[in-house]
Amino acid sequence: MIRSLSDLDLQGRRVLVRVDFNVPLDEGASGARRITDDTRIRAALPTVRALLDAGATPILMSHLGRPKDGPDPRFSLRPVADHLGTLVEAPVVFCEQTVGEAARACIDAAPEGAVVLLENTRFLPGETKNDDALARQLAALADAFVSDAFGSVHRAHASTEGVAHHVAQKGAGLLLAREVAFLTQALDAPERPFVAVLGGAKVSDKLGVIEALLDKVDRLLIGGAMAYTFLAALGHRTGASLVEEDRREEALRLYERAGDKLLLPSDHLLGDRFDAAAETKVVTGEIPDGWMGLDIGPATRERYARVIEGAATVIWNGPMGAFEMEPFAEGTRAVARALATATAERGALTVVGGGDSVAALNEARLADAVTHVSTGGGAMLEFMEGKTLPGLAALDA
Ligand code: AMP
Repeated sequence: MIRSLSDLDLQGRRVLVRVDFNVPLDEGASGARRITDDTRIRAALPTVRALLDAGATPILMSHLGRPKDGPDPRFSLRPVADHLGTLVEAPVVFCEQTVGEAARACIDAAPEGAVVLLENTRFLPGETKNDDALARQLAALADAFVSDAFGSVHRAHASTEGVAHHVAQKGAGLLLAREVAFLTQALDAPERPFVAVLGGAKVSDKLGVIEALLDKVDRLLIGGAMAYTFLAALGHRTGASLVEEDRREEALRLYERAGDKLLLPSDHLLGDRFDAAAETKVVTGEIPDGWMGLDIGPATRERYARVIEGAATVIWNGPMGAFEMEPFAEGTRAVARALATATAERGALTVVGGGDSVAALNEARLADAVTHVSTGGGAMLEFMEGKTLPGLAALDA
């Protein structure tokens, strides 16, 4: 059983919290780095506030980017600490070291009621190797460990997995608990009809998920470039669309196994090249040479929207087309709107994950119109696939 915050003894304790502060940054005119989207920082606030309210000192740690060789100021979490200071009603202390004597001294010097943020865990070579000595060093900084980084629980790193083996108390933060609760409800006890919507470019990333979902869902809607590997496997002409040749056989096997559960696009919005200024046309059925399918067509949009709007449970991961280019964004938008309608009119449980789907939802200003927006892309897919997520398993050990 994974403990929640209310199961832990928190009063007066130092609590090490693995958060996901891997936020996008760009360089401002002054050369200072600016956070362009603080969603992930805001997502951690409920846990931070709950710990403060319980009389604990939250000691936050996270990775940021992929620094190659140790500390690199371009990947420092200092701008995140500054920003956190504007969001939380408590002093924020930034520690330039992640572990060791200096980190401990920094934590000791923090005033009562403060939030501490440690420097980027990926500055330490042992982090991604899940080095046991580093895991112990991290654990030594606190009395308890709380994981709240759903987006990182599919990785076995020292700060996500290893550390959990060396603490007296451990549990899930509010965000992680919420993520797991919604996904579990959808996958294990769905109200029916249960519809899954999968899109994106690479079918190879999602074959395992499709296989696992076929046992659970009533309908599985496929969009995005991954649909073309299925259509090619069924003998259709796909023109210049993206097809993963080496996955055709697997796609055909899944299609045959799925019976009438699996839906594929019947019409397509084509482009004569992968470009926002491409010439476009809609075709039903076969895709001529020299043209590529870049979005689901209007009839498919409507068909998919009807299925989604009739569902009681919907999980969505992956765009329906090359939605970053405006001419090819409508299919993804239509799916976002249909989820919002199912939520509002049917009271459906709707869960959306994956960076692209979430970006599309935000752009359509519909993030508040679905039940849950997941902070995990890869983690959500692995959870849906039924894989053991190391960062969750370690909390349960
Ligand atoms: P993935 O990383 O596999 O989830 O794929 C996401 C990417 O797939 C997005 O950047 C989309 O632009 C791209 N994508 C979706 N549909 C298509 C398509 N029909 N052709 C080319 N790229 C696509």
